[in-house]
Amino acid sequence: MNPVELIIKKRNGCTLSREEIEEFITGFLLGEVPDYQMAAFLMAVYYEGMGPEETAHLTNVMLRSGKTIDLSSIPARKIDKHSTGGVGDKVSLILAPMVAACGIAVPMISGRALGHTGGTLDKLESIPGFRTELSIEEFRNILRETLVVLAGQTSEIAPADRRMYALRDVTGTIESVPLIAGSIMSKKLAEGLDGLVLDVKTGCGAFMEKESDAIALAEALIAIGRSAGKEVIAFVTGMDQPLGMTIGNWCEVVEALECLKGKNVPDLMEVTYVLGGAMVFLGGGASSITQGIERCRSAIWSGQAYEIFLRLVERQGGDAAMLRDVHAYPVAGARREVRAERSGYLTAFATKRIGFLAVAMGAGRRKMEDVLDPLAGIILAHKIGDWVSSGDLLATIVCGREDLAEIGAREFSHCLTITDVPPPQQSYVRAVVDKDGTRPWRTPEIY
Ligand code: URA
Repeated sequence: MNPVELIIKKRNGCTLSREEIEEFITGFLLGEVPDYQMAAFLMAVYYEGMGPEETAHLTNVMLRSGKTIDLSSIPARKIDKHSTGGVGDKVSLILAPMVAACGIAVPMISGRALGHTGGTLDKLESIPGFRTELSIEEFRNILRETLVVLAGQTSEIAPADRRMYALRDVTGTIESVPLIAGSIMSKKLAEGLDGLVLDVKTGCGAFMEKESDAIALAEALIAIGRSAGKEVIAFVTGMDQPLGMTIGNWCEVVEALECLKGKNVPDLMEVTYVLGGAMVFLGGGASSITQGIERCRSAIWSGQAYEIFLRLVERQGGDAAMLRDVHAYPVAGARREVRAERSGYLTAFATKRIGFLAVAMGAGRRKMEDVLDPLAGIILAHKIGDWVSSGDLLATIVCGREDLAEIGAREFSHCLTITDVPPPQQSYVRAVVDKDGTRPWRTPEIY
């Protein structure tokens, strides 16, 4: 195979065969196809897309680039969740122990920050000592003991995705249905799952800003899952504003802990309960998603989900005492408040810009080797739809450097819109996509 010919073929909108995709990706992993040719290929896919069969081949080649985890020795049903990426998205930290408390095994392989979005691994690593790099053996043992494990993608699992993901992050090729679908499903199918729940974000803070694009991605993900014989349910959820009240690493862990102890942050907990309810349903622990939501709610209110999270943190080397007393954690050296310059309704956040702002303050990476500031973050005081009076606190910016906090506060004040007219109300969970098709979703009022 001549890599240039293959790139030109894709650039010209032609369909690639399984053999061509396999040779190209294998060549990349062997170092025969250099990064610049893979970057050109990714850009060609970004513009020209891939058909369903091509996307399935891409996923399969990426999956087979590494090992799959055999979890058959664990009797519980194994269900995971994956999100396409958002700002302030700390759902996994609450949901994984919550679903484990319902008796479902949750083997979760998560990612790092990508573009403007945060990563579960970076949030977990803000807990002193927490280890996300686990061998397959350790992964299996922890899952057996605690029914939940939260780990990173080792070089053994879908290595093609790991390397392509890092290249996409720095070459403007993230927002592509086949590339996102291949990336997510190659990792997830390697986990030895029985079922998967997907959170496909839409809105100005999502990779798929238009709801129709998010639905197309959800349908592509469902099709790949079904062709691999897995039960998959996807929800399209809103990412027009950061999820919950915090954006950063340690501050998001603290918010997740509060929710695990029963605090209701409405958008965050609605998304968490719906995804969790679907996981419990797929895992056979409930006869419907609604009943699954009820079980998840009990897992939070009984304190079981919180206890499982602490046990998991300890088991993965983290300092659980720090989670019991979050005041023992170091405090950010620099703080700035952003206040409303006028009265009115908070109608919009520039959510992607807020995500990039958090990255610039040290919560994410601009280059692969950047070291994160676990304390860098934004703590919101209001959400879309709230009335604010002139001078009210809108957000607190925290980080380790005075200059970055100053820039952060100035930039954040340009990231929101206040108007005289209230914005239209939008639901947090918009649609469900499963084997029966795509339908609008209405969250049952049970909490
Ligand atoms: N999450 C992933 O795992 N991969 C993507 O490409 C985007 C979000």
